Amino acid sequence: MRMRRILAICLFGLLYIGAVGIFFSQALVSETTFKAVVVVVSGAMGVFYFVFLTGLNQRAQEKSLTAPIVVCSLAILLWTFYQAPETRVIFAPFASVTIAFGMYRLAQKRMVVLSAATLIAYALVIGAHYLQWSDISLLRSEALHWLVLLLTLPAYVILTARVQRLHGALHKAGLRIRDIEEHARRDPLTGCYNRRYLVAALEEQKRLADIHGTPLCLAVLDLDHFKKINDEVGHLAGDEVLRTFAKVATNSIRSSDVFGRYGGEEFLIVLPETSLLAALNTAERIREQVEHHEWSGALSGMVTVSIGLTQYIAGESVLDLFSRTDTAMYLAKRGGRNQVVVEEPSDELWHSTEGSYTA
Ligand code: GH3
Ligand code: MG
Ligand code: MG
Repeated sequence: MRMRRILAICLFGLLYIGAVGIFFSQALVSETTFKAVVVVVSGAMGVFYFVFLTGLNQRAQEKSLTAPIVVCSLAILLWTFYQAPETRVIFAPFASVTIAFGMYRLAQKRMVVLSAATLIAYALVIGAHYLQWSDISLLRSEALHWLVLLLTLPAYVILTARVQRLHGALHKAGLRIRDIEEHARRDPLTGCYNRRYLVAALEEQKRLADIHGTPLCLAVLDLDHFKKINDEVGHLAGDEVLRTFAKVATNSIRSSDVFGRYGGEEFLIVLPETSLLAALNTAERIREQVEHHEWSGALSGMVTVSIGLTQYIAGESVLDLFSRTDTAMYLAKRGGRNQVVVEEPSDELWHSTEGSYTA
């Protein structure tokens, strides 16, 4: 954002130098004035570039420095007009761009004041030109330009303010949509991803694994004897266990892994680009951390998790992958719970971290 702002300012400055350069090439602006414009505009660009780059703007009340930029730009336009009356032709378009730029950050009232001040300063420059040259035709031509500015600038400020409000409303709507989208993919109880998002993520990761040939693993995690936990400590405390479990699991996975609640007390982890061994380490770490977590009061020693783990076989359906992982989880239950069971489809061996056996 900061970089875009610096680039916009520099581009605007360069365009102005280019525009005055055209007048210079047509001998409508003296070499001294053109050089002065180059020095002043480059100097102003350099100052703002330095201020933004060093973060000095952070100390200002208005960090975007829009007001100083707008004032500086309008002052340079007026000064150039004072030096070279012929540049009045480019005054209006460049002043309009400056005002539009200011409108995005400054209140409409401030922009009205700035525009009024610009019109007054423009009239003063016309007066100064007349005092300097006593040229009545120049005075008439400049006065006509001023009149056009006087008639159009207020309308321009009002219209730009409306566009600014529309822009603000669109920005807010965009944020709201993002918020709704984020809510739609989250489980309201635990805050982790929900079933719909998990299924979509699994399908997407299967597609990527098929394209790139990278390993993909899936884990099904089911809390042990959760019904009993509910019975002993109550449903609300049971909810708290689910929330804490989700936190423990989330803290044990990488940012690329997708963890979520599939339903009830059953959770899934999609582990993209992960070998079975690495996935087993993750699953075992979660199992251990759940077991050794300092569960309060009656829950102490009661909360454990059974985990089934498999690696995706190229070409199999998401349903088959899920079904194999679920079977591995049920084997973990059958094997005594609080354990990780890995299915290795290549040699049809079922491994358990609490012992292993053949399926
Ligand atoms: P197992 O070790 O075989 O998995 O036994 P279990 O008791 O965990 O499994 P079972 O499927 O018999 O029971 C799951 C329980 O989870 C029953 C249900 O009331 C409880 N449960 C499901 N969703 C929620 C929830 O959102 N909050 C709470 N507190 N309990 C829930
Ligand atoms: Mg259970
Ligand atoms: Mg269950």
